[in-house]
Amino acid sequence: MSAEETLAGLSKQISTCTKCPLHEGRRKAVPGEGPANAEIMFIGEGPGFHENEQGRPFVGAAGKFLDQLLAQAGVTRADVFIGNVVKCRPPGNRDPLPEELAACDEYLEAQIEAIDPGIIVTLGRFSMNKFIPGAKISKLHGQMRKVGERYVIPMFHPAAALHQAALKPAILEDFAKLPGLLREARAAQGKAAAEVKRENVMRENDKPQQLSLF
Ligand code: SF4
Repeated sequence: MSAEETLAGLSKQISTCTKCPLHEGRRKAVPGEGPANAEIMFIGEGPGFHENEQGRPFVGAAGKFLDQLLAQAGVTRADVFIGNVVKCRPPGNRDPLPEELAACDEYLEAQIEAIDPGIIVTLGRFSMNKFIPGAKISKLHGQMRKVGERYVIPMFHPAAALHQAALKPAILEDFAKLPGLLREARAAQGKAAAEVKRENVMRENDKPQQLSLF
């Protein structure tokens, strides 16, 4: 099955999912959107009012701010996958509960596996804590780290920065650093890929010698 087919299948499952109580207030589920081969995945928290109405991620005020931040970083929204840790709207935009996060995680995991992004930008503490458990966003925001084979860059959630004026300069500054962080991650991944290629070539070169022993 192609990554596109996997994502489409997941979206279908999500649209009728009843694994947690968040489905009760769902008008439209928000599985996320973007290319199936996206290099960068942005992961937010959960749908808000407008997202629940439209079934698309980041379309309200926070979405407009995210568009502005992406433009500032030279990132085209159409080139990245944007999703959330929970796919249905928590009532009144409250924080998702641990059991809701746990119930929805298999969808996010399956999306990550299908897309296989090299870089994940987390928006807010819930998505950051999925990759870096127990971390404090006030300490880690704007700092990239390697988690498994991927690079994770924690950022404040754009909605938090809109509601708390004190966070706005920090999120603007972090997104201004994004182009440099993306270059750094790509360079490191290029080196790692070159290293794997070199090891494969060495392994291939070793084969005839091993065979000649017999
Ligand atoms: S939030 Fe996730 S787990 Fe809960 S009902 Fe929606 S899709 Fe299912």
